[in-house]
Amino acid sequence: MTGWTRRRVLGAGAAGLLVPSLVHARPRRRSRLVLLGTKGGPTPNRFRAPASNLLVVDGEPYVIDAPDGVASRLVQAGIDLARLRNLFVTHNHSDHNAGLGALLILAWGSGLQDQVDLYGPAPLRRLVAAQLAANAYDIQVRRAEEGRPPLAPLVRVHEISAGPAMARNGVRVRCALADHLTVPNYAYRFDTPDRSFVFSGDTRPSEALIALARGADVLVHEVMLPSALGGIVDRNAPRVIDHILRSHTTTEELGRVAAAAGVRTLVLSHLVPAFPSITDDMWLEGARRHFSGEIIVGRDMMEL
Ligand SMILES: [Zn+2]
Ligand SMILES: [Zn+2]
Repeated sequence: MTGWTRRRVLGAGAAGLLVPSLVHARPRRRSRLVLLGTKGGPTPNRFRAPASNLLVVDGEPYVIDAPDGVASRLVQAGIDLARLRNLFVTHNHSDHNAGLGALLILAWGSGLQDQVDLYGPAPLRRLVAAQLAANAYDIQVRRAEEGRPPLAPLVRVHEISAGPAMARNGVRVRCALADHLTVPNYAYRFDTPDRSFVFSGDTRPSEALIALARGADVLVHEVMLPSALGGIVDRNAPRVIDHILRSHTTTEELGRVAAAAGVRTLVLSHLVPAFPSITDDMWLEGARRHFSGEIIVGRDMMEL
């Protein structure tokens, strides 16, 4: 709802007058986006948590990706883990799913009673079964000692393919297979009663993602800054920089993606590398060359 507000204006006299003003009332939004983490890659650092997102629509939480620490981040964002219902995994790299088993067991320990629908690419079903098996001892003793329900029947895994993924409570979710080299990655689009959001997961520039994101209000997209990649040193992975260059999107490419999709707001997340020495202007420069809409450099726990 939008409308004009009335503002009390104190004139020279004693009486205040109520006059129409040009202050535009900010509509109360039904959707809330929280960037739970904004760094790319599995290695923890002190500055940013691994990338994941929380969308809340009419009070219902939707979680996109489950990296290490996601359960704590959700609680910091005000989410009762027992209310976890909708979980979307973009792909099965550890910086996107290392916290999956922990999230399920901790939601269960927080009083989960209803079903959790979990969406993502294969082999998600096998990974979830393995996580439940890894936690079998804790589940068994808590069931016996605390009277909790079994966890496995509460978790419903949907191994998805491109197209419609879910429609419920006024929220429609579609996904597209982006291009993350050898690892299938689904980008998700959420059409809600007031805004549309697209989450890229990990991808190099992808026509399928551009089509999915066409006209969206908010595109949360991964990004890398090639000029800073030389600072990444990993003795165990001599080809890591080559891997990054081939499977991710540069700031400049991202500007072109956002322009082609015609989105309103571009949010940079899954920053690679996530060095604090990289300024916002350095992240923005390449994207700005090609995209004239709003661009936001994501920060952990930022709300939009
Ligand atoms: Zn990643
Ligand atoms: Zn990845």
